[in-house]
Amino acid sequence: MAVPDAVAERLEETVPDRVRSLLDQLHAAGHAAYVVGGSLRDALLDRQPSDWDLTTDARPDRLVELFHGAVYENRFGTVAVRRDGSVFEVTTFRLEHDYADHRRPHRVEFGDDLEADLARRDFTINAMAWGRAAGEEDNRLVDPFGGVSDLGRRVLRAVGDPRKRFREDALRMIRAVRLAAVLGFEVDPATLAAIRVEAPLVAHLSGERIGAELDKLLAAPEPSIGLRLMADTGLLAVIAPELEAQRGVAQNKAPGEDLWDHTLRSVDAAPASRPVVRLAALLHDLGKPSTLADGHFHRHDVVGATMAEALLRRLRYPRPVIEDVSHLVRYHMFGTEPELTDAAVRRFLQRIGARHLDALFALRRADDIGSGRAPDDPRTAAFRTRLDAEVAAEAALDRDALAIDGDDLIRELGLRPGPALGRVLDALVERVIDDPALNDRATLLLVAQAMAGDTSGTAS
Ligand code: ATP
Ligand code: MG
Repeated sequence: MAVPDAVAERLEETVPDRVRSLLDQLHAAGHAAYVVGGSLRDALLDRQPSDWDLTTDARPDRLVELFHGAVYENRFGTVAVRRDGSVFEVTTFRLEHDYADHRRPHRVEFGDDLEADLARRDFTINAMAWGRAAGEEDNRLVDPFGGVSDLGRRVLRAVGDPRKRFREDALRMIRAVRLAAVLGFEVDPATLAAIRVEAPLVAHLSGERIGAELDKLLAAPEPSIGLRLMADTGLLAVIAPELEAQRGVAQNKAPGEDLWDHTLRSVDAAPASRPVVRLAALLHDLGKPSTLADGHFHRHDVVGATMAEALLRRLRYPRPVIEDVSHLVRYHMFGTEPELTDAAVRRFLQRIGARHLDALFALRRADDIGSGRAPDDPRTAAFRTRLDAEVAAEAALDRDALAIDGDDLIRELGLRPGPALGRVLDALVERVIDDPALNDRATLLLVAQAMAGDTSGTAS
C-alpha cells in the first residue's frame, strides 16, 4: 500500500464530486467534514462503495438547517442528506456510552473530536477518515490505528482491545467474519482469538442484526471463508446450531469431507447475484443430521424445509424470502428421469410453480457442484427443456386456467355452490393435466357431468 500522501492524492480523484461538494459545503459553513468508515475503506480498495458515509462536528440540528430536505435517520443523530438523487448519511462525531447486554449503546454523546469518533469504530480499516477540519486548506487522510497498513496486508484487526470491543457489541464478531469473506481478508490472530473467547455473547443479539450480516456475508464471492470462520470460532454453534450439527456428519460425496463441507461448497457454487438461492444452498441439507438412519437421510427435504423456516424466522427474514427458501429446500431432491410422462412433468410444474424454476435449477446446479458432480447434467437440462415447453404452452395447472368456472357448473349442470363444487373443479384440473386437449368448455362440461353423475350414483 502506498504511503498516506499518495493515498490521499488518489482519493482526490476517486471520491465523486457530489460527495466532495458536501464536504466543501460543510467546510464553508465552518465545520470539519470527512468521508469515513466503509465507504472510505472501499474507495481505497478500488471497490465501489455501496454508499458514502460522512462525519462532521456539526450537530444534527445544524445539519438539518444547512441541507434542504435533510431528515433524521435514527435516534443516534444520523442525518440523511439528499443530493443529485442519492442519499448520504452524515453522522455527527460521537462517543458511545452504556453498552448494555453486549448490544449497541443505549446513549450517544456528540463530540468535537474526530479521533474519538474513529476510536469507537470496529476495525482499523473502518476507522479512517478523509477530509479536513475547519480552517484547514487541504483534505487529508486521518488514520490513527494503522488502517492503511492493514488494508495493504489485507488484515482485519479490531480497534483497541478486541475482547473489550466484542464485549461492548457482540455484533462486531459477526461483522469480522462477514468482512473477512466480503473483502477476502485474514482476521488478525489476536482479533480471532478474542472471537473464540467471546463468541457465546452473540446469543444476546437480535435475530434481525444477525440476519443483516448473514445477508451481506452470503453476497461475498466466497461465503465459505466467513462461514468456516464462524464454525471454527464457535459463532455458528450459537447462531445456527442446526448448521453446526452438520459438522462431522459423513457424506459419500467428496472423499474426506463431511456434510458441512458439502454445504459450504454448495453455497460458494450458488450465484452471488441470487440471495435466495444462496440461502437455500446454505440450508438445503439442514434436515440431514436429524434424519440420518442406516446411511440414509430419509425425508430430509421435508424436515429441512421446516427447519429452514424456523431458522429464518429467528433471523427475522421477510416472509416472502422465508417462503421461497423453504419451498426450494422442500423440493431440492426432484428427479429428472427421462421416463417421466408429460403429465408427470406438468404435475411437477404445478407443485413447484413456474416462477420458482430458475431458482430451483440454480440450486440443483450448486448442489451438484457441491457434491463434486459435473454441473449442467444433460438429463437435468432435458428435464428443464420439457418444463419450459409446458410453460410456453401455457399448460393449465389450476382452477383459474380451466375453460370453465364454478358459475358454469351451477348454471349448466345445476350443481350447488359449496365444497363439492370445488372438488369437481379440482378433479377437472387433474384431468386436464393428464390430457390438456380436454380443456375446452363443451368437453369439460361433459366430463363434469359424468363426474357429478358418478358422485350422485355413489351417494344414493
Ligand atoms: P458495508 O460495506 O456493508 O456498508 P460498513 O463497514 O460500511 O460495511 P456499515 O454498517 O455501513 O458497515 O457501517 C459504517 C461504519 O460504521 C463502519 O465502517 C464502522 O466504521 C462503523 N460501524 C458499523 N457498525 C459498527 C459496530 N457494530 N461497532 C463499531 N463500529 C461500527
Ligand atoms: Mg456502509
